[in-house]
Amino acid sequence: MKLLVTGGAGYIGSVVAAQLVEAGHQVTVLDDLSTGHADAVPAGARFVEGSITDAADALAGMDGVLHFAARSLVGESVREPALYWNHNLGGTLALLDAMRAAGVGRIVFSSTAAVYGEPERSPIEESDPTRPTNPYGASKLAVDTALTAFAGVYGLAAVSLRYFNVGGAHTARDGRSYRERHTVETHLIPNVLAVALGGRESVDVFGTDYPTADGTCVRDYIHVADLARAHLLALDACAPGEHKVYNLGSGAGFSVREVIEVCRDVTGHAIPAVVRERRPGDPAVLVASSAKIQRELGWKPERTTLPEIVADAWAALPR
Ligand code: UDP
Repeated sequence: MKLLVTGGAGYIGSVVAAQLVEAGHQVTVLDDLSTGHADAVPAGARFVEGSITDAADALAGMDGVLHFAARSLVGESVREPALYWNHNLGGTLALLDAMRAAGVGRIVFSSTAAVYGEPERSPIEESDPTRPTNPYGASKLAVDTALTAFAGVYGLAAVSLRYFNVGGAHTARDGRSYRERHTVETHLIPNVLAVALGGRESVDVFGTDYPTADGTCVRDYIHVADLARAHLLALDACAPGEHKVYNLGSGAGFSVREVIEVCRDVTGHAIPAVVRERRPGDPAVLVASSAKIQRELGWKPERTTLPEIVADAWAALPR
C-alpha cells in the first residue's frame, strides 16, 4: 500500500515506518520536526517536512494514514493545555478533513492509555469508562470520539491503538537502530538510563504516597517493536464504516521503584533516586488488558518482559 506516516521522524512513528518499509509498503513520512529527527526516517521512506494541518499534497494517491504526529507529554499538557487541544485535536481534525477531500479512507491512530484516567479496575478493557485526568488524554479521547462519528457517517475505516508505556529500541533488518531520543526527556526509562550513562546524577521519583504496594505509580511497559507490529495488523483490520479500538500493553504492572531496580540490574549502576512531589495528572495505576487485540487480530507480543525492554533501550544508547 501507499501509506502516509505522520510523525514518522519520532520514536514510535519511525519504528512503524521502518517495519512498513520492510513489509514492502511505499511509505511517505510527514513530520514537522518539532520533536522528531530527520535522520530517524528510515531509508526507503520518502520524507516530507511539514505540518498535519497542511497535508493535502502529501495525501495525494495514498491508500491510508498512520497518524503519530502529536504532543505526548502529560505534565506539559497540564501546564499548556492549548498546545494539546490545538495540535492533537485541531491538527487531527484538519488531517481528517484533508483525507476526506483526497479520498483517503483508512487511518490507524495513536491513542493512549491516558484516555482512561484513574481506572476503576485493572487490567483496563476497552469498554471501561474514559475519564482522562489530563489534557493530553482528553485531546486523544476527543479524536477517538471523532473517529467513531466519521466512521459512522463518512464511512471512514479507522483503528485506534491505545498505547500504555512504550519502551525499548528496535533494530531493523538492515542493522539500523531506532530509539527514544527526546530533546526534553520526561519518560521514566530513558531518564533512569541517563543516570546510568552519567548524564545525570540521580533520577526523580514523582510521588511515593500513591495507593500502590510501594507507593509509586504502576505502569504497563510494552516493547516498541511489539507495539509497532500491531500497527501492521491494524492496517489490515481497517474496515469502512467501522472504528475499532484496541489497548496495547503487556498486561503486567511495574512500579517506578521496580523500574529503577530493573535498570540497576541491567546496567550494573547504582542509579541514585530522589523522592519528589507527585507529578500533576498522573493516575496511580495503568495496566492494560490486551486480550481484545490478541483475540481479534492475532497480535502476540514477543519481547514482553521489562528486563528485555530496558536491555534493548540500554544497548541502543550512544556511548
Ligand atoms: N516518573 C518518575 N520520574 C521520571 C519520569 C517519570 O517518577 O523521571 C514517573 C511518572 O510520574 C509516572 C511514571 O514514572 O508515574 C511513568 O511516567 P512516564 O512519563 O514515563 O510515562 P506516562 O505514564 O506519563 O505516559
